[in-house]
Amino acid sequence: MQSEKHNQCIHCSVHSCKHHGAQDMCSLESITVRAKAGCQSGCKDESMCGNYECIK
Ligand code: SF4
Repeated sequence: MQSEKHNQCIHCSVHSCKHHGAQDMCSLESITVRAKAGCQSGCKDESMCGNYECIK
């Protein structure tokens, strides 16, 4: 039986996010990467973390 693989190691250097943890690791078990609103350019900055929350 084949098991489903998950990427449970999330490296992130976004210090302004409240989920940012020690050693540049995200503290969430999973995140969702989303396309930026209104962006269909195919450029490398088109996607972003959908779980980002500002610490302010
Ligand atoms: S929620 Fe997203 S932006 Fe925030 S620390 Fe995790 S991966 Fe980074």
